[in-house]
Amino acid sequence: MTGEPTVDHPAHGHSGRRPINFDRKPRLVFWEMTKACPLACVHCRATAQPSPAPGELTTEEGMALIDELAATDRPTPVLILTGGDCLQRSDLGPLTSYANRLGVPVAISPSVSDSLNEATLRMLRDNGVRTASLSLDGAVAGTHEHVRQIPGHFEDTLRAIDLLQANGFSVQINTAVMAQNVHELADIAALIFRHGVRTWEVFFLINVGRGQRVSEIAAGDYEDVCHFLVDAAQYGMTVRTVEAPFFRRARDLRDGAEGNDPAAEFGLGTLYRQLRDRLRGELGEATSRVLAPTIATRDGKGIIFVAHDGEVYPAGFLPLSLGSVRDRGLLDIYTEHPLLQAIRAAEFPGRCGSCEYSDRCGGSRARAYAATGDALADDPACPY
Ligand code: SF4
Repeated sequence: MTGEPTVDHPAHGHSGRRPINFDRKPRLVFWEMTKACPLACVHCRATAQPSPAPGELTTEEGMALIDELAATDRPTPVLILTGGDCLQRSDLGPLTSYANRLGVPVAISPSVSDSLNEATLRMLRDNGVRTASLSLDGAVAGTHEHVRQIPGHFEDTLRAIDLLQANGFSVQINTAVMAQNVHELADIAALIFRHGVRTWEVFFLINVGRGQRVSEIAAGDYEDVCHFLVDAAQYGMTVRTVEAPFFRRARDLRDGAEGNDPAAEFGLGTLYRQLRDRLRGELGEATSRVLAPTIATRDGKGIIFVAHDGEVYPAGFLPLSLGSVRDRGLLDIYTEHPLLQAIRAAEFPGRCGSCEYSDRCGGSRARAYAATGDALADDPACPY
């Protein structure tokens, strides 16, 4: 999946542009093109399977979705083709070609398999696709392959990064943070940086799909990881988070405390110190300003997810259907659904609603829903 552009947020001391209004259209539209995937990862949100699921959106329905995005004013939302494995769709060529003709930017989020090959990448490039995201969940083969369940998949993924780059793609690496890999985060950052990756998206696991089979990190570690990611964003690599909007709070806090030791200033734990020291050991002292998007999206605010069967969700990790694109336009659902309106207005009844970061962060709606059944409840991972 591709990402949020790095834009300044004037409400927080950065110069420049007005905040983006996400009430009229999303910035990122994720389309789960198929459930089919040759992998069977232990934490799969989509609970992917070897073959397509019944009732997947047809080529014509996909084109109608593209028509809708093309009809919006600029900037046109980015369509992220995901799955399952988007490369398992036999109509990937016609669909990306159609989007290209209509000026809809497309990014792909494929699985690493034999389908990710030179011929397919050339076709996608000819159809205007320039950005791809791959998953890497460990700094060593044992950890990554425990998650991906395929021997040799770690080296295959490193080769796939090189192949994508050789074919002119900008590569983003996605890492799902789990109890099983949290201590490897600094090594993962160093590994992908050395492979020329300049965007790292860190998913904070939500217990949906097969994700219920792996362990989230300990409650006290979220803050440590967020502050470590602020450090990691100071090596010339943009760092983004998924389902951890409070990363923006950590980043803002650090903005106001430059020169101080974050561990002492914010009472961080040993995990932060270990990850920070490990990263310094690998890459040396930080070399750049913090490269992290300041744009304030969250599930249903700037982000929308279309499932394989056309059902629309605030995000891939929030299994609360808002309607179907088979019955109603995506933008109509996005703009009119009361839940999304409440999410965008930061109308949260609890702590996230009264927090000074309610608009800028607002908490993970997916984690709130997974924990309580209420998508407007507090995000239990945030200690603020
Ligand atoms: S309390 Fe809620 S809104 Fe405030 S920083 Fe934490 S998650 Fe974000």
